[in-house]
Amino acid sequence: MRGSGVLERVRGIDRVLVDESVRDSALARRVGQRLAGLGLDPSWEVVPDGSLEPAPGQGQLLRLKRFRGRFLRFCPGTRNYRCCGYRIIHIGENCPLSCSYCILKAYFQDQALRVWANQEDLFAELDRAFGAQKARRFRVGTGEFTDSLALEALTGYSQDLVGFLGAHPNVCLELKTKVADLSFMDAVPRPDRVLPAWSLNSPDIWASEEPGSASLEERLDAARTCARAGFRVCLHFDPIILYPGWEQGYARTVDMIFDYLRPEDVAYLSLGSFRFMPRLKAAMLCNSPDATYVYGEFAPGLDGKMRLLRPLRARQLKFVADRLRSRGLDRQIYLCMESDEVWRAVLGRTPPSPGGLAGLLMDLAFGGSGA
Ligand code: SF4
Repeated sequence: MRGSGVLERVRGIDRVLVDESVRDSALARRVGQRLAGLGLDPSWEVVPDGSLEPAPGQGQLLRLKRFRGRFLRFCPGTRNYRCCGYRIIHIGENCPLSCSYCILKAYFQDQALRVWANQEDLFAELDRAFGAQKARRFRVGTGEFTDSLALEALTGYSQDLVGFLGAHPNVCLELKTKVADLSFMDAVPRPDRVLPAWSLNSPDIWASEEPGSASLEERLDAARTCARAGFRVCLHFDPIILYPGWEQGYARTVDMIFDYLRPEDVAYLSLGSFRFMPRLKAAMLCNSPDATYVYGEFAPGLDGKMRLLRPLRARQLKFVADRLRSRGLDRQIYLCMESDEVWRAVLGRTPPSPGGLAGLLMDLAFGGSGA
């Protein structure tokens, strides 16, 4: 299997709880086999559907669950700012990595890794939604409530999904990750409908705030492998964090991109300044007390999230954007959850109308010019 760091990500799993109704599902069987294949032997318990998870203990809990809600959702986005119109395919919750700024710590009360094992329900819902509107394009992703690939070595979820979506050419799937597991590639019938995506940060932030993740070189090397195989990739500088020496750090990463990729290999690239719901700060103080960047000059934005003051934000985003543009990446750059004022200050433009940012990204995802 292609990929790196699998054992590091999953060896902490010491307990697996499986809902009774999915105990014989293909996914539960596969997870059991792959844990054994990795030489891991966590306790394995079948529990009644809907039963509560135990209070967090020392180790990591994996719950294979029957999910009864909607699998296909709109991204929560944000009020009052330019939103990208992304749809989420909900495959599970939480992540085995532990980035200090991770928004999931504010979304979820616990850190149990939950994976929806009733995949036949997920595929039936997607089939209805995508099949009923064949003339409509969908840009979807799985990386909103979990990392798309961090548990792939155990679950094979993305492999299953890309195989299934091969029958729906009106759908473009983004797989957003900080690991370098490329096993999904083997199942992709159409590389032009799958967008492998990597989050990037400065080398300093990677070293201090993203424990367990693949190195920037590993991510970009994986991106290059995908590009050579006919995929276009997405990159996300998010969150860009202000710290002493940030310019040199982000400049280094921007320069590194072009050691691995050509501008035309990139479908789109987002820039987002660190922002957070106030309750994330409490979680960070507890889990990541050394993450001092959270004490910067933040003020509540129109959506209630704390944002760096606008001049500071515009400066950091413009610095990264200008460096990317000087190397030939331009029309694919967009700002994540920013106002028109910041768009103009950073890029000298706003998303085109009609269609706005959502339309622009749809075009870019499906290989249009986005111009
Ligand atoms: S990889 Fe993404 S989902 Fe996982 S901890 Fe880091 S920010 Fe959170």
